[in-house]
Amino acid sequence: MSKRVGHLIGGEILIEDGRSQALYNPSTGAVSGEVCLASVETVEQAIANAEAAYPTWRDTPPSKRAQVMYRFKSLLEENADEICLLISQEHGKVLHDAKGELQRGIENVEFACGIPQLLKGEHSKNAGPAIDSWSEFQPMGVVAGITPFNFPAMVPLWMWPAAIMCGNTFVLKPSERDPSSTLRIAQLALEAGLPKGVLNVVNGDKTAVDTLLQSPKIHAVSFVGSTPIAEYIYNEAARTGKRCQALGGAKNHAIVMPDADLDNAVNALMGAAYGSCGERCMAISVAVAVGDEVADQLVASLKGHISALKVGSGLDNSNEMGPLITAEARDRVKGYIDAGVEQGATLVVDGRDIQVPGHEKGFYVGATLFDHVTESMSIYSDEIFGPVLVVVRVKNLQEGIDLINRHEYGNGTCIFTRDGEAARYFTDKILVGMVGVNVPLPVPVSYHSFGGWKRSLFGDLSAYGPDAIRFYTRRKTITQRWPSSGVREGVSFSFPS
Ligand code: NAD
Repeated sequence: MSKRVGHLIGGEILIEDGRSQALYNPSTGAVSGEVCLASVETVEQAIANAEAAYPTWRDTPPSKRAQVMYRFKSLLEENADEICLLISQEHGKVLHDAKGELQRGIENVEFACGIPQLLKGEHSKNAGPAIDSWSEFQPMGVVAGITPFNFPAMVPLWMWPAAIMCGNTFVLKPSERDPSSTLRIAQLALEAGLPKGVLNVVNGDKTAVDTLLQSPKIHAVSFVGSTPIAEYIYNEAARTGKRCQALGGAKNHAIVMPDADLDNAVNALMGAAYGSCGERCMAISVAVAVGDEVADQLVASLKGHISALKVGSGLDNSNEMGPLITAEARDRVKGYIDAGVEQGATLVVDGRDIQVPGHEKGFYVGATLFDHVTESMSIYSDEIFGPVLVVVRVKNLQEGIDLINRHEYGNGTCIFTRDGEAARYFTDKILVGMVGVNVPLPVPVSYHSFGGWKRSLFGDLSAYGPDAIRFYTRRKTITQRWPSSGVREGVSFSFPS
């Protein structure tokens, strides 16, 4: 019998009759099962369970909540092989890459274990005569997370461990394209002792998302996905009075200076552009070469490396790059390559006709490289989200900075250089949220926060780390006086002066 992935509501797996969507193994192109697409009633049931679990969980001491997190972290490590297999089977990324994804997620769980320390409030004794004042950080209530396909383990772990450690209860709506690892991880949290209803998972599509957005019982929404949907979520959340952080798409540039260690830069660019088949929001998709000499060397070297790149099934750990997530994604990426050629870019390496022996129906596109790309081309302006790296040539660093700053996205960027002055100038002037110096994927560690600028993030607070504590709590400030001799209240109609 083919598998049907359901929901996790009130601690129980619910396999819903009704609408469903096929799941694929992108490495082979074969259907591997189906996922339930939640109805309005099912999502409301999940919200009701989260609401019922909230009062007790809210009042559970943070240290007791942390004990669950510690056990959960151990279970993630013990079950890592199974989780990585589920990721690769539905996403297509190579197993060693899935392992890296899970490790980053575990680091967010480690951070969550220490959240009691960050929930401490602020206290002022004698804010006025015999008056003490303090601020405390209370949970929001029931909060929701909506996540993308490209990190089915890691991105949910950016959200719900921090949210529930702050005392909230949670409804998670993962990507309907690769839901199995996300669901398995949530089951491990229950095995670790998380009370039923604290974390609920509903699989589904727009119906499920809109039900969460419309519900007055949901007080905050964390979203990660593409920019048009991020903007929609942010607008709807504002309209319905919810706190929202909505992380969107990206077009990440790497500047290669003439003095860069070119071998190091090329190795870094190979992984950053083609790792995970380019399906990372921090993937480098534009290399900005400063001067024609470095551009020529860069393109020649990348071309050589690409010819040696091992592309194939995600389940074979000797491969370096797997397939794209769906046949539609493959066709969309190929369409961009067609457009790049039509718009006049130089196609240096063409990945459109790749064949993976034994996996002819898999959703593969080979690593692709364009040179002489200009700002008006769609391969430059749009997020392709595939293994396509474009090279733009500029005359100097300032021209490169201006180019990046004009782009609508501002997620990640990097400079390759040996010049500290250039690096410092770049990090200061660039309008991007996460910046690397000789580090191509400057993903912040779990105890910093993750967030882009411009149309890569809608909202005020970034994901995970310290910002997560502020996002998943609300400040309450209490001012207190105990009347006693000498400090009794007299009648007054003005502020004390
Ligand atoms: P997506 O926007 O298609 O889907 C994300 C989520 O939104 C999914 O759960 C999906 O079910 C839901 N959704 C899709 N269409 C919807 C609609 N019309 N109404 C309501 N909900 C809808 O994104 P994706 O293809 O799963 O993921 C890839 C995108 O995510 C890329 O753009 C990538 O850059 C971005 N991403 C960003 C970050 C970041 O941190 N900024 C991280 C990972 C991925």
